[in-house]
Amino acid sequence: MSENDTIFGKILRGEIPSKKVYEDDDVLAFHDIHPVADVHFLIIPKKFIPSLAEATFDDGPLLGKMLALAPVLAREQGLTDGFRTAINTGRLGRQDVYHLHIHVFGNRPGGSPLKVMLGRD
Ligand code: 5GP
Repeated sequence: MSENDTIFGKILRGEIPSKKVYEDDDVLAFHDIHPVADVHFLIIPKKFIPSLAEATFDDGPLLGKMLALAPVLAREQGLTDGFRTAINTGRLGRQDVYHLHIHVFGNRPGGSPLKVMLGRD
């Protein structure tokens, strides 16, 4: 599958809009269009990696950067009392968009804890 085929490829190229949370040379973060919590954003690599199943050890620094950004951006978005991360992988992992992404989502302080499961059906 080519990057052209994914909606996130289009977002990366600016062909469709997104509500940007963060961007640098390696990654882009933007709000999910269908949030499952008060705050819900996605961190994606600019490099096209279809899913975590296709990531290699060489991608380690990039994956580490994405993961390390999660708490920084979560805090900036007001998630100061915890949040959840998820990487859906493959068909049985309920991945819909085949451009690797980390979901970061949570409720604001004083809100309710997240349900045990992601909750999307
Ligand atoms: P997945 O199921 O692949 O882990 O998650 C894909 C996510 O991308 C879903 O949470 C979905 O709401 C989000 N999404 C799909 N299309 C768009 C879009 O055009 N813009 C944004 N911002 N999010 C999208």
